[in-house]
Amino acid sequence: MTPPLFSNRIASLPKAELHLHLEGSIQPATVCALTARHGVVMTEEEVRLRYAYRNFPEFIEAFKWVTSFLRDPQDYALIARDLAEHLLTQRVTYTEVTLSIGVMLLRKQRPEANFEALLCGTEPFEKRGLRFQWVFDATRPPIRRGLSDGSRRMRKALRFESYRGLRHRR
Ligand SMILES: [Zn+2]
Repeated sequence: MTPPLFSNRIASLPKAELHLHLEGSIQPATVCALTARHGVVMTEEEVRLRYAYRNFPEFIEAFKWVTSFLRDPQDYALIARDLAEHLLTQRVTYTEVTLSIGVMLLRKQRPEANFEALLCGTEPFEKRGLRFQWVFDATRPPIRRGLSDGSRRMRKALRFESYRGLRHRR
């Protein structure tokens, strides 16, 4: 039997997770649920193979692949809920999560709708003691292709600045 990674004492301590990317934190089981929502049945093993990148270009391919299944606000709610559940199992009480607004814009989605859905999805977890701070990444999208108009992108990014600090309102 493998010994636990941390002692019970460390495992039970409250923690802060200060650098996470929502789209980069989707567990294989959740990827299966996500692809199934869009008619693609996959095993966790197949997802793990997709995730087994060896270098940065392969990582980008894996990222593009998984985000291609983030098609509607419910998809964002699903992955945000799963992340929240996962963080609570590690006793994380505060987290700062980056959201790739650039990917949403690239896929011609409405970031506002996706964001509202994930706020609704994570609300119950806030009541369970996990506080979220969202960071919008729109100025440095991981997939630059297709976002050639820099000034337009910047204006959109600035519009979303108003969402920053939303979680601090209370
Ligand atoms: Zn990062």
